[in-house]
Amino acid sequence: MNMEFRRKLPIPKDIKEMFPISSEYSKKREEKVKELEDILAGRSDKFILLIGPCSADNEEAVLDYLSRLRKVQDKVEDRICIIPRVYTNKPRTTGMGYKGMLHQPDPSRNEDMLRGIVTIRETYIRAMEETEFFCADEMLYPENYRYLSDLLSYVAVGARSVENQFHRLASSGLDIPVGMKNPTSGDLSVMMNAITAAQGSHTFIYRNWEVVSKGNPYAHVILRGHTNKRGQYIPNYHYEDLKTVSEMYRRTDLSNPAIIVDVNHANSGKQYMEQIRISREILQSKRLSEEIDSMVKGLMIESYIEDGNQPINGSTYGQSITDPCLGWEKSEKLIFEIAENV
Ligand code: PEP
Ligand code: MN
Repeated sequence: MNMEFRRKLPIPKDIKEMFPISSEYSKKREEKVKELEDILAGRSDKFILLIGPCSADNEEAVLDYLSRLRKVQDKVEDRICIIPRVYTNKPRTTGMGYKGMLHQPDPSRNEDMLRGIVTIRETYIRAMEETEFFCADEMLYPENYRYLSDLLSYVAVGARSVENQFHRLASSGLDIPVGMKNPTSGDLSVMMNAITAAQGSHTFIYRNWEVVSKGNPYAHVILRGHTNKRGQYIPNYHYEDLKTVSEMYRRTDLSNPAIIVDVNHANSGKQYMEQIRISREILQSKRLSEEIDSMVKGLMIESYIEDGNQPINGSTYGQSITDPCLGWEKSEKLIFEIAENV
């Protein structure tokens, strides 16, 4: 092979032994997962907010952000279930650039995968112990999932991975909800097929084991907009889009039909301020249609401490080095507004 096998890395079991969590916290995580499942199944009418930076680029800033979020969560807990986005590995359109804390635990230094594995686990443990949050990540690399499997409460399969068989099969073996994004091309059937695959049971190879998955009944839709053949952004958060997905669900026998709308990415055209207006529009669509109301169970919002984004070598504390995010004050206001209107 045309690559250097630089060093053997600890397997997830080793890392979990080095950085364990208490049974008290595993119980709390199970309760949080149950809360999410109840919402997705319609047994609870709370509304999910998957909110946080595009990428968790800096442990201190992320923990600072989460401690702010905790205060808000406590005030809206009767209506809103906040699952912070702590995204530790980033898909890149051309493969170039910052690929997340897993690859580059310090964005100003070279890639270091060992340090990366330790840092993402440490960050998740600190999130849990300091802010009582069990966070969401993108499952970009299914084989790495187990480094965080006792800490995560939710994963998304990204727009660039959702057509991939391994992501679908691995999703079918997860015991937490998994959101399947529509692909960058916008073909909704790819996303629906991914959900069908994830809800089924499969035999496959996972980390050199022959495994048999049970099927994940909580696999569901995330709408994130798409791009057309000219590279223009095409949103899919409007009333008609939500109706279309609802009808697609009705033609299947999938369990727990649910939609989360990602209000950034190709839905906002990466205009982060638009996330406010788009969130309002979705709440309005829920009010206008009972069907949409029962189907749309939450939003995904890209939010951080400072508005916008900066280059990877930028020095602004708490500002995204990947997609532009809504800053803290606006995010806090938006969460309260959603809590009042959902
Ligand atoms: C993200 O959530 O930051 C992301 C990369 O999403 P998508 O897969 O929708 O592009
Ligand atoms: Mn993003």
